[in-house]
Amino acid sequence: MTIKIPFLKPNLVKQETLIPYLSEIESSRIYSNFGPLNTRFEQRVLDEYFDHLGAVTTVNNATIGLILAISQSKRPKGKYVLMPSFTFAATPLAAIWCGLEPFFVDIRADNWCMDEKILNEWLQILGDQVAAVIPYATFGTNMNLDFYQQIHESGVPVVVDAAASFGTTENLNHFGKGFPGCVVFSFHATKSFGVGEGGLIYSANTELISKIRQAENFGFSTRRETTLPGLNGKVSEYTAAIALSTLDVFDQKLKAREQIYGWYLEQLEHTDLLGKGWTIQKAEGKIPHQFMSICCPEGQQNSDIIHSLASQNIEARTYFSPPCHQHPLFTAHPHTPLPVTEKISSRIVSLPLWEEMTNQDVRLVVEGMVPS
Ligand SMILES: *Cc1c(COP(=O)(O)O)cnc(C)c1O
Repeated sequence: MTIKIPFLKPNLVKQETLIPYLSEIESSRIYSNFGPLNTRFEQRVLDEYFDHLGAVTTVNNATIGLILAISQSKRPKGKYVLMPSFTFAATPLAAIWCGLEPFFVDIRADNWCMDEKILNEWLQILGDQVAAVIPYATFGTNMNLDFYQQIHESGVPVVVDAAASFGTTENLNHFGKGFPGCVVFSFHATKSFGVGEGGLIYSANTELISKIRQAENFGFSTRRETTLPGLNGKVSEYTAAIALSTLDVFDQKLKAREQIYGWYLEQLEHTDLLGKGWTIQKAEGKIPHQFMSICCPEGQQNSDIIHSLASQNIEARTYFSPPCHQHPLFTAHPHTPLPVTEKISSRIVSLPLWEEMTNQDVRLVVEGMVPS
């Protein structure tokens, strides 16, 4: 049987909208190295999303973005990078590429973000051994960053993994705006602002962004001499073209995703699943939902729900199950007790949410989870 409802159906910008930008590339004959389209994209993002406060730099993906942000902000004598285990493998991998060790911290049962109280305790215990802290704004939530701003200003560098948060706002303020550490967004095709491969680093600290910009261009100084342990993290003008034309239609994309999320909430109410032990994330702000996450009731396994949906030709996933500390590469790394992480990851189900889904599709998915 063919899949009736796939998990994802990425919908990048249409070719017609790209043609004017491609013509510009042909005339400029500039194809990369912070070219004119890339510069225009960065300026529009800074003006339209961050009220021209701070600075941004594009990167060729968020994993490289995390590596650049960690390596340019870490404390030189530190060893550990504190992060949730309930995140994508890219985050601990980025720490390892920076010569550091991931240290996994449990999450909160309500918002599925790192537990600030537990984190605080371990910051005390580990002291100078902490090189950096990487909270993850889980599934794009507008996580309150006040606590992390305090930590950052107290001298422990914070890099926010905001992979799914481009477009997240609260009272019209974009997520991360004004934050003095790095905030790293992903533009992977599967994210809501998808360009194929790409990402962006924001910080209110313009000097930090200048340093990262230098690091992502081989660490070159203005004399093209390498002065930092750099790499090549730049985006091509073709990617910048896709990013610019995505900005032109992003509001519509956000509205479509918001509507589908609303249909999910209606169906959950209609079927009273939330009254029957199913739970959803306590998420804050207006979120460009990448998929619909839900926890099945205690005592049930997410794999059973996935199989039940699959038998009805509906594709679902389990982000993030297994959690990072259970991946073979990361099992030896230290962690706090992780009871909440383990409980949520054994029950988490990620449901389809893509822009052309209909209310009927959403009904089929929700009814498919609870066969009558
Ligand atoms: C997608 C994602 C990343 C990696 O982003 P890429 O642009 O694919 O490198 C990192 N962290 C989280 C939480 C993600 O969801």
